[in-house]
Formats: sequence, C-alpha cells, structure tokens
Amino acid sequence: MIDLLRLFNQQSCGKMCITADSRVGMEEIGDRKKVVVVGGGVGGSLLAYTIQNFADVVLIDQKEYFEIPWSSLRSVVEPSFAEKAVINHKDYLSNLELIVSVAVNVTETEVITADGHSISYDFLVIATGHFRPVPRTREERLNHFQNEYERLKSADSVLIIGGGPTGVELAGEIACDFPEKKIKLVHGGNRLLEFIGSSAADKALHWLQSKKVEVILDRAINKQAIKEGVIQTSCGEILEADCHFICTGKMVGSSWLNDTVIKDSLDTLGRVMVDKNLRIRGFTNLFAIGDITNIDELKQGFAAQKHALVVAKNLKLLMIGGNEKKLVTYKTTPPVAYVSLGRKEALAQFSVLTLSGWIPGKIKSKDLFVGHTRKQLGLKPNPNPNPV
Ligand SMILES: Cc1cc2nc3c(=O)[nH]c(=O)nc-3n(C[C@H](O)[C@H](O)[C@H](O)COP(=O)(O)OP(=O)(O)OC[C@H]3O[C@@H](n4cnc5c(N)ncnc54)[C@H](O)[C@@H]3O)c2cc1C
Repeated sequence: MIDLLRLFNQQSCGKMCITADSRVGMEEIGDRKKVVVVGGGVGGSLLAYTIQNFADVVLIDQKEYFEIPWSSLRSVVEPSFAEKAVINHKDYLSNLELIVSVAVNVTETEVITADGHSISYDFLVIATGHFRPVPRTREERLNHFQNEYERLKSADSVLIIGGGPTGVELAGEIACDFPEKKIKLVHGGNRLLEFIGSSAADKALHWLQSKKVEVILDRAINKQAIKEGVIQTSCGEILEADCHFICTGKMVGSSWLNDTVIKDSLDTLGRVMVDKNLRIRGFTNLFAIGDITNIDELKQGFAAQKHALVVAKNLKLLMIGGNEKKLVTYKTTPPVAYVSLGRKEALAQFSVLTLSGWIPGKIKSKDLFVGHTRKQLGLKPNPNPNPV
C-alpha cells in the first residue's frame, strides 16, 4: 500500500502533482511514457488509478473530484450520502498530475485546456462521457445537494421533467422519502425508460403509480420557457409545482473535439469511433473509453470501467513495445441494466428477462454500488464511522 502521500506544488491555476514517496507495489517500465487522460468520471478515474504506477499520468478533469453519477439522486433526498459518493481525486490518486480545467483542444502531440495549459502526451485517452455542468470543488457540490434538499423539503408539490433513468430514479427516491409530497413526472415519449425494454418500462410505471406519482406521457416541455412554479407542456397545458427538477438526456461530451485532430473520428451522433482495442479510429496512440465511444452497447458505468481496464492493459503492452497482435480486444457487455426504485426496490433488465422488486433492489438500491466503486479505487467502502 502506498503510505506517505504528499501533495505538493498546488498552484492557483488548478495544476497539482500528487506523488507517492513510497513506491511499494510500483511496476517499473523502463522508459515511462506520458499518458494524458481527459475526463475524471467513471471510466477515466479508474483508468488513471490503474495506470498511475506504470506511466507518467496527467488527469485533466473539469472538477476536483470524482462523483459516482448514479448516486446523485439519493444525495438530493439525503445530502449526507454525497459525503461518500463525491470523492476528491487526490483521495484515491497518489501518483499523478491533476489538472482541474476544461480540455478545449487536442493536437497530434498536445491537449490544450481552457486555462491555457498545453500538455504533451505519448498516449491520450478521451473519457469525457456525457456533458454535465457541475461545480468545480467538492465543497460546492456538497452544498449544492444541501440546497436541493432544502428546496425539496419545503415544497408540497414536485415536478420531474424527463422519464429516463434519472427522472424515474429521482421520482422513486422522493416518493419513498417524502410520501406526503404530490409528485408529477412528465415525459415527452410514450413510455418511460426508452433505453430498455417496454416490459421494464411498464413495471416502472406501475411502481411509480403505486407510490402515487402522477406520470404524464407524450408531453414535451419547452425547457427555455420554464419558470419556477409554472411549466408549460407542448399542448399548452400548465403544470404547477412548488419545485421542479430537469432530468432530460445529456449531450455526449464530445463537442470540444469538433475542431480537433479527432474530428474525423466522430460519428454523426458525436461519439468517438473506436476499434476493437478501443483505439480511436485512425490513430495508434489515442484511445477512448466510456459513454463517449460508439460501441454498440448500453451506456453504463460498468462498461466504462471494463473499457478502462482493457485500455490499461493495452497501454502497458504498447509501452513495453509488445506485439500489437497481443492487444486486448474489448468484448461488449451483456445488456444488463438496473434502475433503482427508492431505497429497497429496483428493476433489473437482463437480455430476455426483467425483474423488479426487492431482489434487484438488494443489488443496487441500498448502497447504489457506492461501496463497490470506492473499493475499486482503493478506498474504504464507507468512510462514515456510523453508517446508516
Ligand atoms: C440516473 C443514472 C443511473 C445510472 N445507473 C447506472 C447503474 O446502475 N450502473 C451503471 O453501470 N451505470 C449507470 N449509469 C450510467 C453511468 O453513469 C455512465 O455510463 C457512466 O458515468 C459513464 O462513464 P464515463 O467515464 O464515460 O463518463 P462520466 O462518468 O460522465 O465522466 C465524464 C467526465 O469527464 C469530465 N469532462 C467532460 N468534459 C470535459 C472536458 N472538456 N474537459 C475536462 N473534463 C471533462 C466530467 O467532469 C466527468 O468527470 C447511470 C446513469 C444515470 C444518469
């Protein structure tokens, strides 16, 4: 275990070097290569953690912390949950350089950030997932959840806009923790959870209705015209609520690549096209992982983590000058999706089977895989000495 961690050289520009005095467990690779990872989300953080001891790693993220994305809905109803799900990068990364800034350009040799850094690389990994505007510091993020909680607590009626996984999971969290509130969920499509099968969507609908959530389908909302308290649907209908949450789909986080050397490797949906070894099409030293790739599978954190481990192995092989024929091939994950329904129940969709209730709930809903995700990053599953 790395013991004497030392954080030094923290500069106002958001660049910090995190090094380990002790190199116990470090695998030395003759000539250490420089790997730049852009995006410190589910895939990028695991990759950076995995390769930090055999490469000179620079992690560029727009924020100082890693946040387990699917935990954020629990953090709205229970702000203290965010204490374990929002983790400063420096708490699990011990031996790399962290640059807290937005990446804005990539050339054949460098990544450029919004605050003016030019970072050269031997290998580059793009892991910018989906675009989510979030605060820069962990403290700001924790305050944000506290404010959302206060807003929710003081409301009698709540409107959730969007019936994808975020909207359904948030409705479930609120319905379980605040059963007295009047909850409406409005969705533009003709069924919930369009990313998985209709049988799972029906189960989610019935579960929400059993918790007295009013689900309104086939009603788009003009997001530009939203005012707190009054929301208008595409049919001109006015939906009133004391507070609302917008839970509609997020854009793939690749717009910053549109004018870069990677532009011709983006597909029409803005996803980065990769080969079977997860190298960006047309390049030998550039990789992409996670939601941003064009891999034909459900966009899941679980898959992003698998991509990260494949790329870690491939980087290692390339760094020691190994035979390219030995590069690891990525095998797509079987289509498994979990959608939590409050704290105890969930939906699970396997290839041909949909399960709902407390059995999938036991797998996801209690802790939302937070302990497991923390352990993958070498952290204790629960930093709280008095776990609930
Ligand atoms: C409600 C909900 C529930 C979910 N439940 C599950 C589940 O149960 N199991 C599961 O496996 N998956 C689940 N997912 C999906 C999962 O969250 C995503 O698949 C996963 O986060 C993708 O990981 P990623 O690394 O590709 O991107 P992300 O985790 O989105 O990370 C992208 C990172 O890039 C950074 N970034 C973006 N642009 C820039 C830039 N230009 N410069 C610098 N940094 C940048 C961001 O700050 C972020 O840190 C769920 C998602 C949602 C919304």
